[in-house]
Amino acid sequence: MKIAVFPGSFDPFTIGHESIVLRSVNLFDKIIIGVGLNTSKSGFLSMEKRMLLISDIFKNVPNVEVKTYSGLTTDFCKENNAVYLLRGLRTSADFEYERAIAQVNKVMYPELETVFILTLPEHSAISSSIVREIIKHKGNARMFVSGNIDYDFYFNTIDTVK
Ligand code: ADP
Repeated sequence: MKIAVFPGSFDPFTIGHESIVLRSVNLFDKIIIGVGLNTSKSGFLSMEKRMLLISDIFKNVPNVEVKTYSGLTTDFCKENNAVYLLRGLRTSADFEYERAIAQVNKVMYPELETVFILTLPEHSAISSSIVREIIKHKGNARMFVSGNIDYDFYFNTIDTVK
């Protein structure tokens, strides 16, 4: 069984992330979207909200699972018997960052292969940080986030996807 982990902060999950997952579903038997606690990035949405949002987006895609994790991505892959790590590439800056992570991960977990999917041109400018800024200032970010989302979801304490 070919299991891939797609790790990220996903704070929030964007149409760029969604596209990478949907374009990869036929490459693997299962994709586990791993919502990771990134200690160098301060959180906007709670882990629970990120989970709810992503689970709702993929509720009709049977071979996509969503889990949260803290700690090393390589440990999370091992725990889930995944030997593929899925990452999206937007720019040459992404490439340099991803290259270093992938090469270090390969030393830590030699069986692990990182698979890169190039972003669609129309998604290459979309980042969670830009989307976060728009949402925080109550701008319309609907075209950048997938799912049936409204601003109440981002700001209310009630953790449900409408
Ligand atoms: P991290 O904190 O691990 O960088 P992100 O949530 O920012 O997590 O990104 C997760 C993965 O999705 C990374 O591989 C990143 O390059 C990729 N990604 C982010 N935005 C896009 C996009 N618009 N198109 C394609 N891939 C993307």
